[in-house]
Amino acid sequence: MKAAQYKEKGKLEIVQLPIPNAGKNQLRIKVKACGICHTDIFVGLQALHNPLPIVPGHEVIGVVDQIGEGSTKHKIGDLVGVGWFGGNACHQCSECRNGDLVLCSKSQVCGLSYNGGYAEYMVAPEDAFAVVPKNYDPKLAACLGCAGVTTFNGIRNLNIPVGSLVAVSGIGGLGHLAVQYCNKMGYEVVALSTSMEKEKLSKQLGAHHYIDTSTATWKEDLAKLGSVKLIVATAPSVNVATELQYCTGRGGKLLILAPMTEPIPVNSINLIANRSIHSSSSGDNFDVEDTYNFSKLHNVVPMIQTYKLEEAPKALAEINKARFRGVIVFDQ
Ligand SMILES: [Zn+2]
Ligand SMILES: [Zn+2]
Repeated sequence: MKAAQYKEKGKLEIVQLPIPNAGKNQLRIKVKACGICHTDIFVGLQALHNPLPIVPGHEVIGVVDQIGEGSTKHKIGDLVGVGWFGGNACHQCSECRNGDLVLCSKSQVCGLSYNGGYAEYMVAPEDAFAVVPKNYDPKLAACLGCAGVTTFNGIRNLNIPVGSLVAVSGIGGLGHLAVQYCNKMGYEVVALSTSMEKEKLSKQLGAHHYIDTSTATWKEDLAKLGSVKLIVATAPSVNVATELQYCTGRGGKLLILAPMTEPIPVNSINLIANRSIHSSSSGDNFDVEDTYNFSKLHNVVPMIQTYKLEEAPKALAEINKARFRGVIVFDQ
Protein backbone atom coordinates (compact mmCIF):
# COMPACT_ATOMS: atom_id res chain seq x y z
CA MET A 1 0.00 0.00 0.00
CA LYS A 2 0.99 3.59 -0.45
CA ALA A 3 1.73 5.62 2.68
CA ALA A 4 3.43 8.81 3.79
CA GLN A 5 5.96 7.90 6.45
CA TYR A 6 8.54 9.64 8.59
CA LYS A 7 11.50 7.34 8.01
CA GLU A 8 13.89 9.78 9.58
CA LYS A 9 13.40 12.79 11.80
CA GLY A 10 11.48 15.59 10.09
CA LYS A 11 11.34 13.95 6.65
CA LEU A 12 7.96 12.77 5.38
CA GLU A 13 8.31 10.44 2.38
CA ILE A 14 5.91 8.59 0.13
CA VAL A 15 6.66 4.88 0.51
CA GLN A 16 5.25 1.43 -0.24
CA LEU A 17 4.45 -0.63 2.86
CA PRO A 18 2.82 -4.04 3.30
CA ILE A 19 -0.92 -3.84 4.02
CA PRO A 20 -1.15 -4.41 7.81
CA ASN A 21 -3.38 -7.13 9.29
CA ALA A 22 -5.80 -6.61 12.16
CA GLY A 23 -4.58 -8.41 15.29
CA LYS A 24 -6.50 -9.34 18.41
CA ASN A 25 -9.12 -6.72 19.34
CA GLN A 26 -8.15 -4.61 16.35
CA LEU A 27 -9.84 -3.48 13.14
CA ARG A 28 -8.38 -2.61 9.79
CA ILE A 29 -9.90 0.18 7.74
CA LYS A 30 -9.51 1.24 4.14
CA VAL A 31 -8.81 4.93 4.65
CA LYS A 32 -11.13 7.43 2.94
CA ALA A 33 -9.79 10.68 4.36
CA CYS A 34 -7.25 11.87 6.91
CA GLY A 35 -6.98 15.37 8.31
CA ILE A 36 -3.65 17.14 8.56
CA CYS A 37 -2.90 18.47 12.02
CA HIS A 38 -0.05 20.66 13.21
CA THR A 39 0.86 17.92 15.69
CA ASP A 40 1.84 15.70 12.75
CA ILE A 41 4.91 17.92 12.37
CA PHE A 42 5.83 17.36 16.03
CA VAL A 43 5.47 13.60 15.48
CA GLY A 44 8.03 13.86 12.67
CA LEU A 45 10.38 15.71 14.99
CA GLN A 46 9.84 13.11 17.75
CA ALA A 47 8.89 15.98 20.02
CA LEU A 48 6.28 13.69 21.59
CA HIS A 49 8.82 10.89 22.20
CA ASN A 50 7.29 8.65 19.56
CA PRO A 51 9.16 5.94 17.66
CA LEU A 52 10.35 6.27 14.05
CA PRO A 53 9.63 5.23 11.38
CA ILE A 54 5.98 6.18 11.75
CA VAL A 55 3.02 6.96 9.51
CA PRO A 56 1.36 10.06 11.03
CA GLY A 57 -2.33 10.99 10.90
CA HIS A 58 -4.87 11.07 13.73
CA GLU A 59 -7.97 12.45 12.01
CA VAL A 60 -8.89 9.32 10.10
CA ILE A 61 -12.09 8.18 8.43
CA GLY A 62 -12.36 4.81 6.73
CA VAL A 63 -14.40 1.72 6.01
CA VAL A 64 -13.91 -1.44 8.09
CA ASP A 65 -12.40 -4.09 5.81
CA GLN A 66 -10.90 -6.62 8.25
CA ILE A 67 -11.94 -7.61 11.75
CA GLY A 68 -9.37 -9.00 14.19
CA GLU A 69 -10.03 -11.84 16.62
CA GLY A 70 -12.21 -10.77 19.53
CA SER A 71 -13.50 -7.57 17.90
CA THR A 72 -17.28 -7.48 17.98
CA LYS A 73 -18.41 -3.85 17.88
CA HIS A 74 -18.19 -3.12 14.15
CA LYS A 75 -18.77 -5.02 10.94
CA ILE A 76 -17.21 -5.05 7.49
CA GLY A 77 -18.32 -2.00 5.50
CA ASP A 78 -19.03 0.25 8.52
CA LEU A 79 -17.89 3.85 8.12
CA VAL A 80 -15.81 4.68 11.19
CA GLY A 81 -13.27 7.21 12.40
CA VAL A 82 -10.30 7.45 14.73
CA GLY A 83 -9.17 10.74 16.24
CA TRP A 84 -6.35 11.71 18.58
CA PHE A 85 -7.55 9.12 21.12
CA GLY A 86 -6.04 5.90 19.80
CA GLY A 87 -7.67 3.37 22.14
CA ASN A 88 -6.18 0.80 24.56
CA ALA A 89 -7.42 2.63 27.68
CA CYS A 90 -7.05 0.35 30.73
CA HIS A 91 -10.58 0.89 32.15
CA GLN A 92 -9.08 0.38 35.63
CA CYS A 93 -7.25 3.59 36.59
CA SER A 94 -8.94 6.52 38.33
CA GLU A 95 -9.09 8.54 35.09
CA CYS A 96 -10.81 5.68 33.25
CA ARG A 97 -13.21 5.22 36.17
CA ASN A 98 -14.13 8.90 35.85
CA GLY A 99 -14.83 8.36 32.16
CA ASP A 100 -11.73 10.28 31.06
CA LEU A 101 -10.35 7.55 28.79
CA VAL A 102 -8.23 10.04 26.89
CA LEU A 103 -6.34 10.82 30.12
CA CYS A 104 -5.50 7.16 30.82
CA SER A 105 -1.73 6.69 30.94
CA LYS A 106 -2.15 3.45 28.98
CA SER A 107 -4.19 4.97 26.16
CA GLN A 108 -2.48 5.35 22.81
CA VAL A 109 -2.46 8.04 20.15
CA CYS A 110 -3.23 7.20 16.55
CA GLY A 111 -0.39 8.15 14.19
CA LEU A 112 1.99 8.50 17.12
CA SER A 113 1.89 5.28 19.18
CA TYR A 114 1.18 3.30 16.00
CA ASN A 115 0.89 3.98 12.28
CA GLY A 116 -1.89 6.45 11.44
CA GLY A 117 -4.03 7.55 8.55
CA TYR A 118 -1.55 8.91 6.00
CA ALA A 119 -1.87 5.50 4.33
CA GLU A 120 -4.31 3.50 2.23
CA TYR A 121 -4.97 1.11 5.12
CA MET A 122 -4.70 1.48 8.87
CA VAL A 123 -5.05 -0.86 11.85
CA ALA A 124 -6.13 0.40 15.28
CA PRO A 125 -7.49 -1.03 18.53
CA GLU A 126 -11.24 -1.56 18.37
CA ASP A 127 -11.90 0.81 21.27
CA ALA A 128 -10.36 3.69 19.31
CA PHE A 129 -13.14 3.73 16.72
CA ALA A 130 -16.11 6.08 16.56
CA VAL A 131 -19.13 5.46 14.35
CA VAL A 132 -19.54 8.01 11.56
CA PRO A 133 -23.16 8.99 10.81
CA LYS A 134 -24.59 7.54 7.61
CA ASN A 135 -24.00 9.57 4.45
CA TYR A 136 -21.50 11.88 6.15
CA ASP A 137 -18.81 13.01 3.75
CA PRO A 138 -15.49 11.51 5.01
CA LYS A 139 -13.52 14.60 4.04
CA LEU A 140 -15.77 16.79 6.22
CA ALA A 141 -15.79 14.35 9.14
CA ALA A 142 -12.01 13.79 9.15
CA CYS A 143 -10.81 16.89 10.98
CA LEU A 144 -13.48 16.50 13.65
CA GLY A 145 -11.40 13.67 15.22
CA CYS A 146 -8.91 16.18 16.63
CA ALA A 147 -9.66 19.83 15.74
CA GLY A 148 -13.41 19.27 16.02
CA VAL A 149 -13.55 17.24 19.23
CA THR A 150 -10.96 19.43 20.97
CA THR A 151 -13.12 22.48 20.27
CA PHE A 152 -16.57 20.92 20.75
CA ASN A 153 -15.65 19.01 23.91
CA GLY A 154 -13.66 21.90 25.36
CA ILE A 155 -16.68 24.19 25.07
CA ARG A 156 -19.41 21.77 26.14
CA ASN A 157 -17.48 20.51 29.17
CA LEU A 158 -17.37 24.02 30.67
CA ASN A 159 -21.16 24.04 31.13
CA ILE A 160 -21.69 27.68 30.18
CA PRO A 161 -25.42 28.49 30.38
CA VAL A 162 -27.24 28.78 27.06
CA GLY A 163 -27.75 32.41 26.08
CA SER A 164 -24.44 33.57 27.61
CA LEU A 165 -22.12 35.97 25.86
CA VAL A 166 -19.06 34.08 24.60
CA ALA A 167 -16.12 35.17 22.47
CA VAL A 168 -13.92 33.28 20.04
CA SER A 169 -10.45 34.68 19.54
CA GLY A 170 -8.78 33.80 16.22
CA ILE A 171 -10.82 32.73 13.20
CA GLY A 172 -8.64 29.97 11.74
CA GLY A 173 -8.49 26.18 11.85
CA LEU A 174 -10.01 25.87 15.34
CA GLY A 175 -11.72 29.26 15.57
CA HIS A 176 -13.96 28.81 12.54
CA LEU A 177 -15.26 25.63 14.17
CA ALA A 178 -15.57 27.29 17.59
CA VAL A 179 -17.77 30.08 16.18
CA GLN A 180 -20.08 27.52 14.62
CA TYR A 181 -20.26 25.33 17.74
CA CYS A 182 -20.90 28.31 20.02
CA ASN A 183 -23.69 29.54 17.75
CA LYS A 184 -25.33 26.11 17.51
CA MET A 185 -25.01 25.56 21.27
CA GLY A 186 -27.13 28.64 21.83
CA TYR A 187 -24.67 31.37 22.82
CA GLU A 188 -24.39 35.00 21.80
CA VAL A 189 -21.12 34.88 19.89
CA VAL A 190 -18.45 37.55 19.46
CA ALA A 191 -15.65 36.86 16.99
CA LEU A 192 -12.30 38.52 17.77
CA SER A 193 -9.69 38.83 15.06
CA THR A 194 -6.69 41.03 14.33
CA SER A 195 -8.19 42.85 11.32
CA MET A 196 -11.55 43.51 9.67
CA GLU A 197 -10.70 40.90 7.04
CA LYS A 198 -12.60 38.05 8.72
CA GLU A 199 -15.78 39.96 9.63
CA LYS A 200 -17.92 38.71 6.76
CA LEU A 201 -16.75 35.12 7.17
CA SER A 202 -17.23 35.20 10.96
CA LYS A 203 -20.80 36.42 10.59
CA GLN A 204 -21.50 33.77 7.95
CA LEU A 205 -20.20 31.17 10.42
CA GLY A 206 -22.61 32.41 13.08
CA ALA A 207 -20.92 35.26 14.97
CA HIS A 208 -23.43 37.87 16.16
CA HIS A 209 -20.72 40.49 16.74
CA TYR A 210 -17.26 41.10 15.37
CA ILE A 211 -14.43 43.03 17.00
CA ASP A 212 -11.15 43.98 15.35
CA THR A 213 -8.52 43.53 18.09
CA SER A 214 -6.01 45.77 16.31
CA THR A 215 -7.97 48.85 17.45
CA ALA A 216 -7.13 50.75 20.64
CA THR A 217 -10.64 50.32 22.02
CA TRP A 218 -11.33 46.64 21.40
CA LYS A 219 -11.42 45.65 25.08
CA GLU A 220 -13.90 48.42 25.89
CA ASP A 221 -15.95 47.45 22.82
CA LEU A 222 -16.08 43.87 24.08
CA ALA A 223 -16.97 44.89 27.63
CA LYS A 224 -19.83 47.05 26.30
CA LEU A 225 -21.50 43.90 24.96
CA GLY A 226 -21.83 42.51 28.49
CA SER A 227 -20.18 40.07 30.85
CA VAL A 228 -18.23 37.53 28.80
CA LYS A 229 -18.78 34.08 30.30
CA LEU A 230 -16.37 32.25 28.03
CA ILE A 231 -13.52 33.14 25.71
CA VAL A 232 -12.25 30.41 23.41
CA ALA A 233 -8.63 31.27 22.55
CA THR A 234 -7.61 29.49 19.37
CA ALA A 235 -4.55 31.43 18.20
CA PRO A 236 -1.18 30.17 19.50
CA SER A 237 -0.13 33.58 20.82
CA VAL A 238 1.11 34.09 24.38
CA ASN A 239 0.49 37.85 24.11
CA VAL A 240 -3.11 37.38 23.01
CA ALA A 241 -3.83 34.75 25.68
CA THR A 242 -2.27 36.99 28.33
CA GLU A 243 -4.57 39.87 27.31
CA LEU A 244 -7.65 37.65 27.11
CA GLN A 245 -7.41 36.65 30.77
CA TYR A 246 -8.54 40.20 31.58
CA CYS A 247 -11.49 40.12 29.18
CA THR A 248 -13.76 37.55 30.78
CA GLY A 249 -16.44 38.83 33.14
CA ARG A 250 -16.55 37.84 36.80
CA GLY A 251 -16.86 34.07 36.99
CA GLY A 252 -15.87 33.86 33.33
CA LYS A 253 -13.74 31.12 31.81
CA LEU A 254 -10.85 31.31 29.38
CA LEU A 255 -10.47 28.16 27.30
CA ILE A 256 -7.05 27.92 25.66
CA LEU A 257 -7.13 25.47 22.77
CA ALA A 258 -3.91 26.28 20.93
CA PRO A 259 -0.76 24.70 22.37
CA MET A 260 1.96 27.28 23.01
CA THR A 261 5.61 26.55 23.58
CA GLU A 262 6.13 29.49 25.96
CA PRO A 263 4.40 29.89 29.36
CA ILE A 264 1.55 32.37 29.79
CA PRO A 265 1.89 34.80 32.74
CA VAL A 266 -1.25 34.50 34.86
CA ASN A 267 -2.48 37.24 37.20
CA SER A 268 -3.77 35.46 40.29
CA ILE A 269 -5.53 38.58 41.58
CA ASN A 270 -7.60 38.69 38.41
CA LEU A 271 -8.61 35.07 39.07
CA ILE A 272 -10.00 35.89 42.51
CA ALA A 273 -13.31 36.99 40.98
CA ASN A 274 -13.83 33.31 40.21
CA ARG A 275 -12.30 33.59 36.77
CA SER A 276 -10.62 30.43 35.55
CA ILE A 277 -8.38 29.18 32.76
CA HIS A 278 -8.93 25.84 31.03
CA SER A 279 -7.64 23.60 28.27
CA SER A 280 -9.11 20.70 26.32
CA SER A 281 -7.51 17.28 26.03
CA SER A 282 -9.61 16.47 22.92
CA GLY A 283 -11.79 13.49 23.89
CA ASP A 284 -12.23 9.75 23.60
CA ASN A 285 -13.93 7.87 20.78
CA PHE A 286 -17.38 8.51 22.29
CA ASP A 287 -16.68 12.24 22.35
CA VAL A 288 -15.51 12.00 18.74
CA GLU A 289 -18.77 10.25 17.88
CA ASP A 290 -20.73 13.02 19.63
CA THR A 291 -18.74 15.58 17.63
CA TYR A 292 -19.55 13.85 14.31
CA ASN A 293 -23.24 13.61 15.24
CA PHE A 294 -23.58 17.18 16.52
CA SER A 295 -21.71 18.59 13.53
CA LYS A 296 -23.81 16.70 11.00
CA LEU A 297 -27.12 17.37 12.76
CA HIS A 298 -26.46 21.10 13.19
CA ASN A 299 -24.64 21.59 9.91
CA VAL A 300 -21.31 22.63 11.42
CA VAL A 301 -19.11 22.54 8.33
CA PRO A 302 -15.31 22.49 8.53
CA MET A 303 -13.61 24.63 5.89
CA ILE A 304 -11.05 22.38 4.28
CA GLN A 305 -8.43 22.23 1.60
CA THR A 306 -8.01 18.76 0.09
CA TYR A 307 -4.78 17.04 -0.94
CA LYS A 308 -3.81 13.70 -2.46
CA LEU A 309 -1.64 11.37 -0.37
CA GLU A 310 1.34 12.15 -2.63
CA GLU A 311 0.93 15.80 -1.67
CA ALA A 312 1.18 15.13 2.09
CA PRO A 313 4.77 16.44 2.41
CA LYS A 314 3.74 19.63 0.58
CA ALA A 315 0.59 19.97 2.68
CA LEU A 316 2.60 19.79 5.90
CA ALA A 317 5.13 22.28 4.57
CA GLU A 318 2.28 24.68 3.78
CA ILE A 319 0.36 24.16 7.01
CA ASN A 320 0.99 27.64 8.35
CA LYS A 321 -0.19 29.24 5.11
CA ALA A 322 -3.17 26.89 4.63
CA ARG A 323 -6.64 28.32 4.86
CA PHE A 324 -8.28 26.31 7.63
CA ARG A 325 -7.86 22.51 7.73
CA GLY A 326 -6.00 20.34 5.23
CA VAL A 327 -7.42 16.89 4.49
CA ILE A 328 -5.85 14.04 2.52
CA VAL A 329 -8.57 12.44 0.40
CA PHE A 330 -8.15 8.91 -0.95
CA ASP A 331 -9.76 7.45 -4.06
CA GLN A 332 -13.35 6.64 -3.24
ZN1 LIG B 1 -4.44 16.96 16.04
ZN1 LIG C 1 -6.95 3.89 32.50
